[in-house]
Amino acid sequence: MFGKILIANRGEIACRVIRTAKKLGIKTVAVYSDADREALHTRLADEAVHIGPAPSSQSYIVIGKILDAVKATGADAVHPGYGFLSENSNFAEALMADGVAFIGPPPVAIEAMGDKITSKNIAASAGVSTVPGHMGLIDDADNAVRIAGQIGYPVMIKASAGGGGKGMRIAWNDTEVREGFQSSKNEAKSSFGDDRIFIEKFITQPRHIEIQVLGDQHGNLIYLGERECSIQRRNQKVIEEAPSPFLDAATRKAMGEQAVALCKAVGYFSVGTVEFIVDAERQFYFLEMNTRLQVEHPVTELITGIDLVEEMIRVAAGERLRITQDDVTLNGWAIESRLYAEDPYRSFLPSIGRLKRYRPPVEGRREDGTIVRNDTGVVEGGEISMYYDPMIAKLCTWAPDRLAAVDAMAKAFDDFEVEGIGHNLPFLSAVMEHPRFREGRLTTAFIAEEFPDGFSGVHPTEQQARGLAAVAAFLNLRQQTRGVLISGALANHPREVGCDWVATLAGFSFNVSTREEGGRVIASFDGGTSHAVSSDWLPGRSHASFVVDGSPLGVKTEAAGSGWRLRRGGMDEIVYLRSPRVAELAALMPRKLPPDMSRMLLCPMPGVVTTIAVSEGDAVEAGQALATVEAMKMENVLRAERRGTVKRIAAEPGSSLAVDELIMEFE
Ligand code: ADP
Ligand code: ADP
Ligand code: MG
Repeated sequence: MFGKILIANRGEIACRVIRTAKKLGIKTVAVYSDADREALHTRLADEAVHIGPAPSSQSYIVIGKILDAVKATGADAVHPGYGFLSENSNFAEALMADGVAFIGPPPVAIEAMGDKITSKNIAASAGVSTVPGHMGLIDDADNAVRIAGQIGYPVMIKASAGGGGKGMRIAWNDTEVREGFQSSKNEAKSSFGDDRIFIEKFITQPRHIEIQVLGDQHGNLIYLGERECSIQRRNQKVIEEAPSPFLDAATRKAMGEQAVALCKAVGYFSVGTVEFIVDAERQFYFLEMNTRLQVEHPVTELITGIDLVEEMIRVAAGERLRITQDDVTLNGWAIESRLYAEDPYRSFLPSIGRLKRYRPPVEGRREDGTIVRNDTGVVEGGEISMYYDPMIAKLCTWAPDRLAAVDAMAKAFDDFEVEGIGHNLPFLSAVMEHPRFREGRLTTAFIAEEFPDGFSGVHPTEQQARGLAAVAAFLNLRQQTRGVLISGALANHPREVGCDWVATLAGFSFNVSTREEGGRVIASFDGGTSHAVSSDWLPGRSHASFVVDGSPLGVKTEAAGSGWRLRRGGMDEIVYLRSPRVAELAALMPRKLPPDMSRMLLCPMPGVVTTIAVSEGDAVEAGQALATVEAMKMENVLRAERRGTVKRIAAEPGSSLAVDELIMEFE
């Protein structure tokens, strides 16, 4: 077994690998860039080596710098994590030439599977079902149109070197093929430095279901069931689960056996993932193989009880698999949610900044038998920088069945406090509550279909609003009782606690009266309903566990003027509690209208202006490109919302702007 492993990665996956290495009694070495001096992975490892400036092109993906760090620390193996150098066969070969083990598959397999078109050909000859389409590269748009016609619409235009959902376009007709061919080519060129394009059939109502494989260097290969990753945004995974609610045992077996056949064809060992697209009739087709540990590997670990990182390390050290296919059992249900630093209310644009508060839910087994696991690479006070992937954490839950796992996830979200940056927790909560998600009727178009206008928060039903009002009434009563105790003690005479309120939130207004009863607060509403609320809340706390009518409820609590800001289940509401007299007067107050921002183009995220495409005085049409802003390696084109005339331009190329900073004004 190895004595010391260097982890050529950062963030949550570096922390994840360090955890298993420690468990196995292996020393660990972290590498870090300027931006990661104080990062969690840098601190967790036994040793840490600085490898250069923040951009990964000057640090994490420079092979020479990693090799130097290996030499300097005497590490005898390297784990690449995912991304960065994990699927770079030159890196694996360079390590092996230095007598250092690469904790991953053989370089020839990385090479063969790294290219979508090559791997598709290998898969087809190994008897694996592949997406119908043209099995070669396509050199010009005319050819693309001709081939698309042969395949039959719709088609998917793809970059052979593609990854991360980049360089792919759906086309429904000849015109879209021409456009898509060019834009895929451009995107592939700029993202991968390789603009080879191919075309395949677009599978409609597609589900993304992938098989986890595991093999050793002695020819043993097994599959560890599947993961369904159909909840995607822009072809990138957001929520994954294992097993898939769609597969039956026969399909699972067929997919697993084809995945193993493909691996055998390329002499595969270590862990790997064979991705399939599955249509509504459960026909499955090979998409690509990822020759590395996958982001969503924890859900497989939770239902198989196998530590995949441990297996990778053992296999790299030459050990034989300790289990056979027959030993693999899938137990219960696991879900993973990717918590991203992106603002769901601003079409999920990346958000960067300091994590003012970061309090994940408690990990481990809960009283009700469910399990919470949170893989993270950040700490409270840490910075989410623009240099790397905006993933903050991977929150997983396990339960004996799917709905219990979904509910455990929803509960875990309510107990997860993240402040200081925009993040997608409210959106993830909304998905957990969504009836179609709960029924397991998933396709990769789920988000686009169910949230066609983006996400603007979850709006409470009347019943939910009453629940929030009851929680706010509880908070008010406890806060006031405390105030009265303090002032009463000082003045030496008791003061009355008010108990009749008008609660307003989200367009609802309720008359509610409160009383204490056996440690609980009973909130009685007009019309006879009442809710019993108890909680461990103390004044000043930003999160508390409530029990409302016997059901546990995690709520984020914050005093907000004459009310309370309450957040749970994707809802974010200010509940105003006023005495009936004050409420009467409040209703007469003129409403403050939000300022008119419609004549301004504001920067939607922190970033750098790369181009300004118009000049002062220009007339612009709706949809016309006005400026581009680069943030987190993404070029974002800002377009005119409507026809107008540019009055003033406030920013210039190269300006570094904060969110909501003015770029230009219209007349
Ligand atoms: P990447 O390397 O970017 O992960 P993939 O080939 O795995 O590229 O595709 C990413 C996603 O795009 C898939 O999970 C699926 O949602 C969608 N996709 C890819 N190919 C097809 C296809 N032929 N039909 C339907 N959807 C597809
Ligand atoms: P809507 O009322 O249709 O929702 P908004 O007025 O809220 O649109 O504008 C949406 C965004 O577009 C805002 O960020 C605004 O600054 C910007 N915007 C408004 N008018 C224009 C325009 N003529 N060209 C470009 N951007 C505009
Ligand atoms: Mg993929």
